[in-house]
Parts: sequence; structure tokens; C-alpha cells
Amino acid sequence: MPPEPPAEPPAEDPRGIENRSVDESGGDPESSRDSAADRDSVVDRDSVVDRDSAADRDSGDGRSTRAVREPMTVRTLRDGRYVVETEGGTYVVALDDGTCTCPDHAIRGARCKHLRRVAMEVAAGAVPAPDERVAVCAVCGGEAFVPHDAEGPQLCARHGFEPGVLVHDRETGERLLVVAVTDQRADAYRTEEGRTVADYATNAEYGAHEPVVEVVYVDSLRPDREVGDAKRYGFPASRLTRNR
Ligand SMILES: [Zn+2]
Ligand SMILES: [Zn+2]
Repeated sequence: MPPEPPAEPPAEDPRGIENRSVDESGGDPESSRDSAADRDSVVDRDSVVDRDSAADRDSGDGRSTRAVREPMTVRTLRDGRYVVETEGGTYVVALDDGTCTCPDHAIRGARCKHLRRVAMEVAAGAVPAPDERVAVCAVCGGEAFVPHDAEGPQLCARHGFEPGVLVHDRETGERLLVVAVTDQRADAYRTEEGRTVADYATNAEYGAHEPVVEVVYVDSLRPDREVGDAKRYGFPASRLTRNR
């Protein structure tokens, strides 16, 4: 509980301005605080907590808790928005715009629990970000969240690689540095010898449909040379591992 009593929010607080503009439509500005609290008690089951602690409501702690605890199902729409199903209703969240169709957002302009839940699920990798779509991982067949315009075979977060990460070759144990994940399949990517990556006997155990990952041998790197100057080799994605 904050030591000081709830005070009128400062004029530069954008949330305060939003509240005021809503309250003005209701008439008497002196009663705006009470009417806002009344609305809470109608809409919000936790209104007692919220009314007793204006600081909690303003910082959104109550909404964050509900965003985590309440059962909600988040699904993606093709246009990058999300449908959030709750016991109390179904709403549409636009994460980029920071909007939701629920009353909490529509009436109070609040960063509601639905917006928070979607943001959490995106951060946790449970649903794609607004600029991503769901693809199938070429290694495990699981969901991979990739940019809308991504082409070729794709990899999930577990089987993908960021450029610059150190990996090992499962066949030889040698240490490699990932330079790029290409959009070409192992049976399409051609080496300097003119053969496809999938054509090599050492790659027979790995999927011909997997994207080729370009690497350089760590032992070939020299302090006086750029990584880009080292010779690149293409591997099927699942032949590389972050662990030995
Ligand atoms: Zn909402
Ligand atoms: Zn995978």
C-alpha cells in the first residue's frame, strides 16, 4: 500500500489525460473519480483491490496477474491480429496498434489483460509475432515461426541457428561457426564441386529437404582475417548441433 493518498494524476500523464477525456462525456468533472470507480465495480471482479489501491491499478499489477493466471486461449489471425478467448468473452487484439476490442480497453484505454497475455505468449514463443507466420520445421515437423515472406525450408527455434553461434559437426566433432541459414534445401544447394549437399555420403543420414546451413571451420579462422574471407561449407541443418 503506498504511503500517500491517491492524488489527481499529473497533466503530463497520458493515462490521466485519457481518463479525463472519457470522464468529461459523463458531465460533472468533480465526480469523475467516483464514476470511474463505479465502472470498475461493474466491469471488474477485482474492483475492491483496484479501488483500494490506485497505484496498483495505474501500474497495471492487477491486470498483469490476471493476464498470467486467467484461462485464455490465444489464436492468430492471418492479418497479424490475435483472437483471445476467455470465460468472459472473445476479443481481438492488435499488438502493433496496442488495441483490444474488450470494454476495459475500449472504455478506459487500458493496456488490458488480453493485450498483456498476447505480448507474453509472443515473448515466450507460444504464438507467432504479428509479422510472422507458422511454418513446419524441416527437422522435427514442429511449428516454426518465420517472417511472412520467408521462402524455402524452415527451422523451429530449437533446430534453427543464429549467425555467429558455435556448433559441432555430428560426423566429425569439429567446431564450426554458423555464417548463414540459407533458404535452399540440401538436395538443391550445390557445392563448389557441383554436387548437391544431399549427394554426399556423409549427409545420407540427414534430411535432403532440410535447409543448408553455411559454416566456417573455427580452426580456419585467423586473427588477421575476416570471417567472410574464410571458406564456407554447407551442411544439412540437423548435422549441426550446439552440443557435442
Ligand atoms: Zn482486452
Ligand atoms: Zn524443429
